[in-house]
Amino acid sequence: MVVDCASAAPPLDTPMQDKLTLMIPGPTPVPETVLLAMSRHPIGHRSADFQKIVKRTTEQLKWLHQTSGDVLVLAGSGTAAMEAGIINVLSKGDLVLCGDNGKFGERWVKLAKAYGLEVQVIKAEWGQPLDPEAFRAALEADTAKAIRAVILTHSETSTGVINDLEAIAGHVKNHGTALTIADCVTSLGACNVPMEAWGLDVVGSGSQKGYMMPPGLGFVAMSEKAWAAYGRSDLPKFYFDLGKYRKSAKADSNPFTPAVNLYYALEAALEMMQKEGLEAIFARHARHRDAAQAGMVAMGLPLYAAEGHGSPAITAVAPVGIDAEELRKAVKQRFDILLAGGQDHLKGKVFRIGHLGFVCDRDVLTAVAAIEATLQGLGLHQGQAGAGVAACAAALAV
Ligand SMILES: *Cc1c(COP(=O)(O)O)cnc(C)c1O
Repeated sequence: MVVDCASAAPPLDTPMQDKLTLMIPGPTPVPETVLLAMSRHPIGHRSADFQKIVKRTTEQLKWLHQTSGDVLVLAGSGTAAMEAGIINVLSKGDLVLCGDNGKFGERWVKLAKAYGLEVQVIKAEWGQPLDPEAFRAALEADTAKAIRAVILTHSETSTGVINDLEAIAGHVKNHGTALTIADCVTSLGACNVPMEAWGLDVVGSGSQKGYMMPPGLGFVAMSEKAWAAYGRSDLPKFYFDLGKYRKSAKADSNPFTPAVNLYYALEAALEMMQKEGLEAIFARHARHRDAAQAGMVAMGLPLYAAEGHGSPAITAVAPVGIDAEELRKAVKQRFDILLAGGQDHLKGKVFRIGHLGFVCDRDVLTAVAAIEATLQGLGLHQGQAGAGVAACAAALAV
């Protein structure tokens, strides 16, 4: 039986301007410090003042990626960053191995095909993690060294699953010649992504996720091995030719007009992140994942991601006997908290709680409480009243 939640939900009792709380995996909430930094007048992008910002943010980005290599900034979303990363290190007809266990894994398969790459796909069911052993086997079988790159998503936002990027990148390293191209859009700034230590070659990310910024910037980090491949790459590119960005970055500049105000935001956001520290940021995200999961389980809402493989950025929930989309709408209507829905075949079956970026314990506790209160109001709560909040609070107390 699927219950119609929206018609039963009471309307928002106090509709208030500016109260919307974003609990989606992008765009994520933006701190006032960052918003204020952005509100300054734009300055000339060839000025010494702007060069200072480029220099500073470049250093900050290297810190975030845990690399001494290049991290380049593009005007575009995360997909632009991934597209740039892929087309700068590969050539027409190259064989790539793509991991696909969700919407984003699927996207990189489509992108690779659009550029005429030959794609071999390693799949896992949605909700399950990619199996590193499958990558090891495929890479070991490739004695002719035809595989030029392995492309995969670290945190699969559509299902709330975190893939074992470290293990898979390790198998790629053993292969010797293939590159690891990783979508770290919802893992960077949420959990450990030590680019150099794991031997990642291309890392793509976007500003509206873990960066605590509005949408608009894409980031591509490149290893030395990736640059060597760039030298051989023949896929067409112009605006996304990363060689141009690398050359300009050496002079603390950009090849084209950068998103000047988003650079202000970037500097402010990364400064906040540096103050908090990587370890503290990762611990906060892990705690929020645990708390969101505990809250859901305690009120009888099953988690969608396989146990032990939940992303620190997002918790996907698959209620039984309740239309997830209607529940999500009821929470929005009643509490002005925006949760994410399910994508593709998961629409109506799954809702997702984003806890990525500028999210504190209070936000997670409030989201869990709002979901619980909505269920209780609808008579759909399956546990003891308040059990979700109690479990969430207990998990936050560690
Ligand atoms: C958001 C996201 C992207 C990028 O999407 P854009 O809309 O282009 O910013 C890529 N991968 C994952 C896993 C994401 O969550």
